[in-house]
Amino acid sequence: MRYVDEFRDPELIIKASEEIYRLADPDRHYRIMEVCGGHTHAIYRFGLKDILPSNIELIHGPGCPVCVLPMGRIDDGLTVATNFDVIFAAFGDMMRVPGTQGSPFEHKARGTDVRIVYSPADALQIARKNPEKHVMFFAIGFETTAPSTALTLMRAKSEGITNFSVFCNHVTIVPAIRAILDSPDMRLDAFIGPGHVSTVIGCRPYEWIARSEGKPVVTSGFEPLDLLQSLVMLLRQLRAGEARVENQYKRVVPWEGNRAALKAMAEIFQLRPYFEWRGLGFISQSALRIRDEYAEWDAEQRFPIPGTRVTDPKAAQCGEVLKGVLKPAQCKLFGKECTPEHPIGALMVSTEGSCAAYYNYEHRKAAMVTSISSVA
Ligand code: SF4
Repeated sequence: MRYVDEFRDPELIIKASEEIYRLADPDRHYRIMEVCGGHTHAIYRFGLKDILPSNIELIHGPGCPVCVLPMGRIDDGLTVATNFDVIFAAFGDMMRVPGTQGSPFEHKARGTDVRIVYSPADALQIARKNPEKHVMFFAIGFETTAPSTALTLMRAKSEGITNFSVFCNHVTIVPAIRAILDSPDMRLDAFIGPGHVSTVIGCRPYEWIARSEGKPVVTSGFEPLDLLQSLVMLLRQLRAGEARVENQYKRVVPWEGNRAALKAMAEIFQLRPYFEWRGLGFISQSALRIRDEYAEWDAEQRFPIPGTRVTDPKAAQCGEVLKGVLKPAQCKLFGKECTPEHPIGALMVSTEGSCAAYYNYEHRKAAMVTSISSVA
């Protein structure tokens, strides 16, 4: 398959791995953050850690939108849906995310009208078909998904569909990277830049990381060879004492981003002064709100929002894992109280969550090896 097979070619993968071994200084410990949850998933899925030198430590970043959403926002959305008899429409990976009164699926079991949609346009279609009901799309995601929310709001306005609104939780990636770099307990050498987000914002917004922080950034694709090539590019820069932004994912990411998508976002959204991120706290100018011109389609302006704030269960260490301070298996609840079947934190729900990725690939693999060796 074009764009897949050549990036999974075993010979090329071995060559890239050998080049990484050649470039990595054995006397140095490298801490490289993959910002995007899709990269975390790919790293575990393809077992890339197993073919890297042990002194290259991959730190999982905050780029899983489900994982960084604070529980209070889920509670707020579900409270509106329950109290005002509203259809709650959201992506499938939101459905099992725990709120204090249960997940969207648990609310559905108790009678709230909760629907899975594959796009905001699907939610708008539900509104068209149910004119007697109000449909609220619970929007999450980085700049990757914000343009489709923006275009759907434009469509709702142009068609005069007023039984539809968006509960906006869109966040922006660059302030989160800044917060991580400002964190005193975090030491990083370089970044594997997010692939999906960069298809919209391009590579230019990362230039300050290289210029001011002296850290190389390589925007990467999601196949095994993409990630290994990105590591080669980063190691070459580190070896030469350089810090630049490079684009490994040129086949998808334009350096300047997607102008049409950025224009649609600018028409519909403006930056919030601050927004709470799970595990990272309040980060200024890190999220989007709907402009007043679209107030009629803004759930936060149409309904009274409780503004719930919830602290995570004490033993859950989602914040430390999200910041890359702890590995998933170092959380006290990992694999015991918290599993993909019974998640306590959002990182165990989404396939892009580092705990779910680690559990589904590394943990299950280790469990299988243990059971085989005990039989032998
Ligand atoms: S194992 Fe569960 S509680 Fe612990 S960090 Fe991961 S998601 Fe959070």
